[in-house]
Amino acid sequence: MSSDCLFCRIVKGEIPATIVHETETTTAFRDISPQAPTHVVLVPKLHSPDAVSLVKAAPGVLDDLFRAAGEVAEAEGLGTGYRLLFNTGEDAGQTVFHAHLHLLGGRKLGALA
Ligand code: 5GP
Repeated sequence: MSSDCLFCRIVKGEIPATIVHETETTTAFRDISPQAPTHVVLVPKLHSPDAVSLVKAAPGVLDDLFRAAGEVAEAEGLGTGYRLLFNTGEDAGQTVFHAHLHLLGGRKLGALA
């Protein structure tokens, strides 16, 4: 955990967020600026700056994130499809350097840029 990391602070409950799912290793909450009717961010409780760093530090946690994403998608009724993505690095648009999996759905999603 990092005291100056936004997502660590959400995980610890120091910053409010709408939590939709939680497991021993992951927390999922609604994005503050949703890009689709359902936009949930799934984060590992372990601090790691991006997904590739996370897989090196704790590979099983990545499995947990994807499992949690499937459970959130089912709970949100996204049976016709949804998008899972990790922005990794500044050029990809990553703005929070704590690994996180975006789950987007609830509308037809366009092609990736
Ligand atoms: P990134 O751009 O790093 O891939 O994704 C970071 C995401 O975190 C963005 O979609 C942004 O809207 C979301 N976000 C940033 N600050 C907050 C916050 O304080 N609360 C919540 N719930 N989401 C946030």
